[in-house]
Formats: sequence, C-alpha cells, structure tokens
Amino acid sequence: MKQVVVLGATGSIGLSTLDVLKRHADRFSLHTITAYRSVDKMLELILAYEPVQAIMACPDAAEQLASRLPTESPTRILGGEQALVDAASDSDVDVVMAAIVGFAGLRPTLAAAEHGKRLLLANKEALVSAGRVFMEATRSGGATLLPIDSEHNAMFQCIPANNRGRPETAGVEKILLTASGGPFRGRPRSELLGVTPEQACAHPNWSMGRKISVDSATLLNKGLELAEACWLFDCTPGDIDVVVHPQSIIHSLVRYDDGSVLAQLGNPDMRTPIAYGLSWPERIDAGVAPLDLVSVAKLDFEAPDLEAFPCLRLAQEAITQPGGMCILNAANEIAVAAFLAGGLGFTGIDNVIAHALENVSADEPDNLEAVEALDGRARACAQERIEQLEHDTRGV
Ligand code: NDP
Repeated sequence: MKQVVVLGATGSIGLSTLDVLKRHADRFSLHTITAYRSVDKMLELILAYEPVQAIMACPDAAEQLASRLPTESPTRILGGEQALVDAASDSDVDVVMAAIVGFAGLRPTLAAAEHGKRLLLANKEALVSAGRVFMEATRSGGATLLPIDSEHNAMFQCIPANNRGRPETAGVEKILLTASGGPFRGRPRSELLGVTPEQACAHPNWSMGRKISVDSATLLNKGLELAEACWLFDCTPGDIDVVVHPQSIIHSLVRYDDGSVLAQLGNPDMRTPIAYGLSWPERIDAGVAPLDLVSVAKLDFEAPDLEAFPCLRLAQEAITQPGGMCILNAANEIAVAAFLAGGLGFTGIDNVIAHALENVSADEPDNLEAVEALDGRARACAQERIEQLEHDTRGV
C-alpha cells in the first residue's frame, strides 16, 4: 500500500488525482491532503476520503476547518507552511503529488525531492524557478521525478527509459512540444487588448485552474513548459520545437534520427498522466474515455504566432539569461493576479514580464534562499511596473 500526499488537493489537478486514487484504493492510501484556504472544499474532501491529515497553508483557515470538523472524524488538522514541508518529507510517505499552483509550492515540492519520494510534478513553476537547485535536490535525494504536465508526460512515454535525461544518445533529433493555442488562437494582437479574465479562462479543450488558464491564453505556459522540458530531459531550447495543435489530442512528439516520430495521444483529461505517474512503469485504469479517432476526424498543426503572443519568445530568451526563468515566473504570477483582479489588461502581462527581465539583474541562483530572494526582487519590480502602467492609463 503506497501512502500518498496530495499537495493542492482542492485544485483541478488535486481533484483529478483523488479521483484516480479512489479507483485504486487497494494500492494507494491517502495520507495527507493540503489546500491554501478553501475551507468548504477541504471539509468535503475530508468527509469523503478520511485522510490521516489535512493541512491548510493559511493558519486561520486551519482553525476554521478544525472548528467545523465532526468530533468523530479520524483526520488530524494542521496549519501553516511548515506542516506542508513536514508532510512531503514524512518517512511514512511514498508518493507526493505536487499540485500547488505557482512558486508557493516550491518548498514542499523541494522537500519531497530531497527526501527521495516518487514525485509527481504538476507544479511546473517550482521547477522552472529553482531549476538547477531543484534538479540537484532530486538527484541527491534519490527522488523519482515523474512529469504530470501532459506534454512532458507524453515525452517521457516517447523517449526510451534508458535514455531519459540524455535524449541525444537515444537518437532523438527533436522534441516537438504541442500547444493548443488557447482561447485566442488566430486573433491578432489588436484584438487582444480588451479581453476579459472570463474569456481568457475559457479554454477550448482543458478545464484547469484560473492561473494556468491565463498562462495558456498568453502562451506563457508554453514558455514555462519549454524550460521544464530542458530540465527534465537535459536538453536546450534549440532541441525543442513548439507546434500548435488545436485539438489537444497529441500531447507531444519525439522525432528520431531515422525519421521515426513517436507521439502519445489521448483525450484531453489529466487523469491519464496522473495515473501513469502513480503506476509507472505499469498502467492502470484512469477513468478516461477511450480515444475515438473517427469522431476526432482531423488533427491540425500550425506555427505559434509570436507577434500576437510574445510571452513564448520572452521565455525563449529568459531561458538563456542567468536566473531569467525565475524572474519571468515571478513577474508573470504578479501580472496574472493583477489581470484576474481587473487591475491590468491582457497585453499588459507580457509588458510587465519584459520589464522585469530587463530591469532585474541576477546570477543563476544556487540555493533555495537565493531563489527566494530573486523571486522577491522580480515580484517587487513587476508590482512597480503595474502601478506605473495603471498611472499612465489613468493619465495622472
Ligand atoms: P488550481 O488553482 O485549480 O489549484 C491550486 C491548488 O493550490 C489549490 O489546492 C489551492 O488551495 C492551492 N494553493 C494555492 N495557493 C497556495 C498557497 N499559497 N499555498 C498552498 N497551497 C496553495 O490549480 P491547478 O490544479 O490548475 O494547477 C496546479 C498546478 O498544476 C499548477 O502549477 C499548474 O501549472 C499545473 N498544471 C495544471 C494542469 C491542469 O489541467 N489544471 C495541467 C498541467 C499542469 P485553495 O483551493 O485553498 O486555494
């Protein structure tokens, strides 16, 4: 029986993970679930799954949750960020699903890597911000790092097991990273000025949290994924091409020296990569409908439009700049939060990121404290830029 921690259990990936775990209660036992401050959702999950522990990162939310828990519940309630780190490092725990959104997930995710867990990585922001520090923790801790992002999970499935991390020796000529293009695919930049958060979050194929939905709409998500693939498969941006594939049926491809191209296909449902991460190298039922190619009928491909969506280009540049992806990620998190709150336009997101990349100087951070310090500086710079843009718009 594998003991599982689900970091970010109340989110889109967290709930899909709980759904897969429920189908395999003979193999997996739910040790800990965590959230930030969604008390109602967490209470529902505790009553449905009865984990050993439930942790709210926000201590006030933990108090509220504890006061509403029926006295007969077997679940222990804890609060605060250190409790997340402790759960991810617990010697009783075998598997950690890292599904907190954003940089906030870095510490517990890193703790799971340092403690040699099977680490299912959805929280790409943690890997791209901490890059070298993260990969070093995975190596020294002896963790098994399994990508949950559907694209990287597809690459993982298409590169032979004995060559992962060294694609060049496997005869890999190119990795083809697919992108749906998001809800605004095909629109020129001039039509993106007034788009609303609701429009940006209405992804045509995937149902996801609001932050990654906006990242998908700006193509910034593809930039994070480019950096993620470079770390996971030990390659450079030049080894990877981005291809827009609007149906999201092919989740990525690997082209080999002999002309072969291997692809992984499936319905757009995150339970497939989650189940593969949980059971690898075996395969288990994920609850996903079989792919019906006749009803899909058509698979289209096109090049990304970097003029309308400059975030991908910014990421391509940031990957080559010391600490660049940490700066880009932090600026993006601040800009997306401002956009969702109505304080920044959609096209302001890339403006804020470009400004932070130009104005925050850095060396490649080589420990957690340096990563956090750089993240903090980039956030402050992004915030200043947003205030300046707001000021200019008002004409004050
Ligand atoms: P959601 O917004 O749906 O869920 C986020 C989860 O993180 C919630 O449980 C939330 O708790 C928790 N959380 C938020 N802020 C904090 C914090 N400061 N401290 C601790 N916990 C926090 O996100 P998604 O599930 O969509 O995405 C999760 C991660 O997976 C992201 O990194 C995303 O890029 C990645 N991913 C997601 C995919 C998807 O299909 N959704 C696909 C591929 C990757 P609360 O509910 O209390 O706020």
